[in-house]
Amino acid sequence: MTQTPLQASVAYAHAHTDAFIEQYKELLRIPSIGADPACRADVRCAADWIAAEMVRLGLDHVQVLETEGQPAVYGDWLHAGPEAPTVLLYAHYDVQPVDPLALWVTPPFEPDVREGKLYARGAVDDKSGVFLHLKALESVLNATGKLPINAKIIFEGEEESGSPTMEPFIRAHRDLLNADAVVISDGGSSTEIPEIGASVRGIVTAEVHVKGPDRDLHSGGFGGVVHNPTHMVARIIAALHDDEGRIQIPGFYDAVLPVSESARAWIEAEEPNAIEEARKEVGTKPFWGVPGYSYLERATAQPTCDVNGIFGGYQGSGTKTVLPAEAGFKVSMRLVNNQEPADIAAKFLAFVERFTCETVDIEARIISSGWPAEFVTTGPIAQAAIDAYAPTWGHAPKMSRGGGSVPIVGMFQHVLGAPVVSLGLGHGGGVHSPNEYYNLSYFDKNVDTAIHFYFNLVRG
Ligand SMILES: [Zn+2]
Repeated sequence: MTQTPLQASVAYAHAHTDAFIEQYKELLRIPSIGADPACRADVRCAADWIAAEMVRLGLDHVQVLETEGQPAVYGDWLHAGPEAPTVLLYAHYDVQPVDPLALWVTPPFEPDVREGKLYARGAVDDKSGVFLHLKALESVLNATGKLPINAKIIFEGEEESGSPTMEPFIRAHRDLLNADAVVISDGGSSTEIPEIGASVRGIVTAEVHVKGPDRDLHSGGFGGVVHNPTHMVARIIAALHDDEGRIQIPGFYDAVLPVSESARAWIEAEEPNAIEEARKEVGTKPFWGVPGYSYLERATAQPTCDVNGIFGGYQGSGTKTVLPAEAGFKVSMRLVNNQEPADIAAKFLAFVERFTCETVDIEARIISSGWPAEFVTTGPIAQAAIDAYAPTWGHAPKMSRGGGSVPIVGMFQHVLGAPVVSLGLGHGGGVHSPNEYYNLSYFDKNVDTAIHFYFNLVRG
């Protein structure tokens, strides 16, 4: 009996699973920590490894492209004809830092298999997106001699740093990256039910420095006569929220829309489970937030403003009667629906500006930003992704609305104007933590998912 191209591709992938996993370890051994300047050569090495692999697969126009930050890797295969869709596949090959190193059972860049789990930094987030797409493409190309779709592939090297230079990069390469749809394969699932991303929040991060006297002073000699920078920091932070948690930056909520019907339905269905899961992380203290919203509405559909750290003055044990010369804090704001990062950044800076006075210097600067974004969850492209899981996992995926931020999603939406769909190919745990692992019993399921997705895009 002859196999369909889909069946032949899946059969090829299954026949090579062990070899694929061995080869995956090669990529996992490269310490491509994008945020660590000491790893710069390693990041480049990972980009070159991926480019060489693309060439080996027979992709065209393979290139390591420079950005203002870490290099991106591009390749394409555009021979499926004008009738077939052109899809941009995205993942990132940079990984999170590894500290605290002492908590790793085996070194993070020496991949180790224990009880069916492949332990290494980046095993799920997000070398899985890079490697499993490459293996799915390889399986289809080797089994059938062609792809059913026109594929463009872009792998980023600075996602874990917030993609600081990717927006100008995408603008500069708009024609190269232009596609009918963008597929974000970042991370994946952790239970037997696959998850498909439906939305992410945007983000603005900032830092505020308050400088007072030229040097630290004696609080006995100068307390009460010199303006204490830590007091100004406390005043600014205290003014950020009212007593019930509403953010007091003028105009902050202007672009926040009522929760959409689909988001409302998701929130209601997921609320009990989300609270139960959150309990495990939070402990026994009651939740806290702006009155009138449910837990998941606060966690995914409302904006936030959180101080992430405060510095200034004496932090050691006992007493030191110092009047510190300097103090400051770091803040992150999560944005939803129509909030624009540049607008929120300007409003935050104007808010801090209001505290300007002669007795201390206040400097505020924006560190990073990203758009809030909705993935497409209906229509043929989203359906191709949704239907790619059930044949291999045995379960249809469920939608997930994230409280976190993936700035690249909004960049693709705003710069390319293309719909973005989520198709995570990871399965495991320890993401951004010690002992990150890929659950190997899901390795070929996820390669299959990618293969099914490519064929689903051109069905009937
Ligand atoms: Zn990631």
